[in-house]
Amino acid sequence: MTESNFLEEGRLLFAGPCDFFFASASSNDLPSPGAPEIAFAGRSNVGKSSLLNALTNRKSLARVSNTPGRTQQLNFFSLSKNTGDERIRLVDMPGYGYAAVGKEKIANWSKLMRDYLRGRAELARVYVLIDGRRGVKPPDEEMLDLLDQSAVSYQVILTKYDELTTIDRNRVVEATMIALAKRPAAYPEIIFTSSQSGEGIGALRESIARLLNEISA
Ligand code: GDP
Repeated sequence: MTESNFLEEGRLLFAGPCDFFFASASSNDLPSPGAPEIAFAGRSNVGKSSLLNALTNRKSLARVSNTPGRTQQLNFFSLSKNTGDERIRLVDMPGYGYAAVGKEKIANWSKLMRDYLRGRAELARVYVLIDGRRGVKPPDEEMLDLLDQSAVSYQVILTKYDELTTIDRNRVVEATMIALAKRPAAYPEIIFTSSQSGEGIGALRESIARLLNEISA
């Protein structure tokens, strides 16, 4: 497939129905395997819900993940063609790094993430969202460590790009590349997104379409 086709393929991928279908609070309770899964991880407030909404062209898709009781769960969304065939699943992982969360919840969160990341054959990639205004911080490093240990392929997305000047952008890109250089499981390209301006959303859809093509080849 040519480059421009992946852009169009990505647009089409997200043009069909997208539905929440499963919330998982434990790795013993995951949905039966179906389509390939793409997970989204990031600190609380990084802009994950906004990005999922922008990606899927919905106003409140990810609100379901932010309802009380669901914030500590893996929330699964199914993307299908208009014919009903399931194409891919999006997995909204619980946000981390929120200071007010108690130790027990953090332990539950860690176990759920670890078990899912290590044990899920359908998981094709984790997109790790990092706040573009802050860059990689210790809670992000911990997540990247967990991904490295789990041997899952992952790619960094820098969010809130609209808030950065060109100088800030260059600086955060350079710092992020340095932080990732020592991490072999990290995909060597960074995606920049703004859910407000829509910048990078097409590129993210394209990246997912390309990935789907790779795993089905
Ligand atoms: P979550 O906790 O990771 O799901 O983050 P949310 O999507 O709820 O966003 C957290 C805050 O960041 C909200 O105040 C959003 O309005 C803001 N936000 C999210 N995405 C963007 C973005 O692309 N640009 C800007 N400027 N603000 C954003």
